Parts: sequence; structure tokens; C-alpha cells
Amino acid sequence: MSSPLTTQSGNEKKALEILKKVKRYLQKNATSKMFKTFVKLALYVQDEEVSKSVLSEFSLSVFDQDGIKEFVKLQDLYGASWCVALISYWIVEKPYHSYSYSLAQKDFNQLVMRLREAGAEPAVISYLLNYQINHTIESHKQFLRSTPAELSRSLNDRMETLNSLLKACDLHRDASMTEKLVQHVISSSLLYPEPALSNIILETHVSMEGSYVSGYDLLREYVINGLLKEMDKGLREPEDVSIQATFQCQCPLCKTANAFLKSKTEKNKIWPIVERDRDHVIERFRRLGLPVAISVEKKGSPYKLVILKSDKLYQMDKERFDLLTKNYEKLAKIESSKSVR
Ligand SMILES: [Zn+2]
Repeated sequence: MSSPLTTQSGNEKKALEILKKVKRYLQKNATSKMFKTFVKLALYVQDEEVSKSVLSEFSLSVFDQDGIKEFVKLQDLYGASWCVALISYWIVEKPYHSYSYSLAQKDFNQLVMRLREAGAEPAVISYLLNYQINHTIESHKQFLRSTPAELSRSLNDRMETLNSLLKACDLHRDASMTEKLVQHVISSSLLYPEPALSNIILETHVSMEGSYVSGYDLLREYVINGLLKEMDKGLREPEDVSIQATFQCQCPLCKTANAFLKSKTEKNKIWPIVERDRDHVIERFRRLGLPVAISVEKKGSPYKLVILKSDKLYQMDKERFDLLTKNYEKLAKIESSKSVR
């Protein structure tokens, strides 16, 4: 080691005393940038208890802040289970520094790669990966309470996160974690619709080989069935302007709006209703995020609520349907080549 502290031997006891005192300071002031310095001290004193006690004042965010190499040095001196105990302390005691704040969720696979390259032991990576999977599952479930519009706006983020976790499992060659993730995915089709899943499987997880792939086999089969079901519903007729969505509210206004949405021929609705009713209907439309334009025509009494269905309903449906078909064909091809082998 080359730090000035270590040029002279025999100071370990003094350093140990300093470290014990410094813990109180760190409780208020620890930042990830200070991690390097304190790892040096922890390595110098060679005392498991004191080192853990001092470093416990940091948080998971050290992994984002260039602390990976330092962490692996700790592992080499104190062992993997000591490291896992430290991480688990951070997870339980430092909720304010949790991943959602500090560690990028969308490139967790990058973190796993850097840990592997730095020489982190599988037990350490497994612990972090398992935590991240549980954390992601819990945070994605929160979306089930949001509106359909929010659910669809957040879809890309969810898919990117899922994709990075699957890649992380691939890197780590951990079939049990892939399966855990896949079981969650196939039990929540609202969160992960099959067409979106088909994109990520085709993009990156096609060429998985060996005994390790059972999670992917399960996922692929699930997606193929989902796509088939969607394709069975067929493509709408070009002149069909119905929108498949339902307001859950049972009031007469929403019943009228539902009938308008379902109608295959009614494209526009001009609806003279009072402000309170207009606000209610507008709010319901916003929650669903539908392809309609809504405006208020400020003439007459009451004013008119004007609802126009998009001109592109057929075009959008055709694009969606073509993509479904294309992805289905690609997946079915992979499936049949697998069964031949
Ligand atoms: Zn209503």
C-alpha cells in the first residue's frame, strides 16, 4: 500500500482509536466520495469489527461512485460474507440512500459487469442481484395502482429495467434468478404486455444456450401464446372507429361515454353538458390516455364538450398488428429450431 499512513508500521493501534472516534463524524457527514479514504484505513487496521462499524456509515451508492475496486479490496481482506453483511446493513439501515435514489436501475447489468471484472465473488454479486430483483418487483407493483395512462407512459422504463436485470442474470449465469424474474413477469401481464416483451426477447435473449435457459423457454412460450391470442382477435376493419377502453365509473355520463368509445361508426361527439359534468368526463378520459382529442366549444349554454376520435386508429392498429405478426413469426422460428435440437 502506498498511502502516507502506512509508510511507518506500528501505528495500527493509533489508527484504530482514530477510526472509532471518526464514526460519530461520519454518521452525519459520510459521502460516497470519502469511501476510498476510509477503505484504506479499514484495510490498514485489519480489524473486522471496527472496519464494519465505520464503513456501515456509508451506503449502497458507493457502487455508483467508483467504489467497486475499493469494495473488492475489502472482500479480499475480510472475506465475502463480511462484505455481504455490510451490504445487508446498508440495505436495512440506509433506506434514504436506497437504489431508487442512487443506483441506476436501467443499467444494473453494467454494475454486475464491473463487479465481475474487479473480482467480486459470486456470493457478493448474488446478494446484490437478488436485492435488486426484489426491489424492482416491489417498485413495479406500485404501478398497478396508477391510472392506465400512467401505466402505459411508464412501460418503456419498466421494460428497460427488466431487460437490464435479465442481462445481469445472464452475466452472472444464475438460472434461479432469471426464473424468479420470469415468474413475476408472466404473472403480471398488465405491467409487462406480451408485445413489449417480444421486443426485448428478440433483441437480446434469443441466443441463450444450455441448461441455464429454462427461464427464457418459459418466457418465450408465454409471449408466443400472448401474441397468438392478440392475433386471433384480428385487425379491425378500416372504417371501424371503436376504441377498446372502458370507464369504470357507473354514472350516466360515463355510460354514455363508454357507448361512444365502443361505437364502430360514431367518430365525433358534440356534447352540451354543464361544467361539472364536462370536468368529470375530461378527467376520466385523461386517466385512460386514449387516442382522442377533447376540447370545449364555448358557445351556447351549456358549452359543448367536443370529443374527436383520432384519424389514425386504423393505421395505429395495423402497425401494432404487423409488429405482432412479425415478432410472432420470428419467435415461432426460434421455437421450432429449439425443438429440432
Ligand atoms: Zn362517471
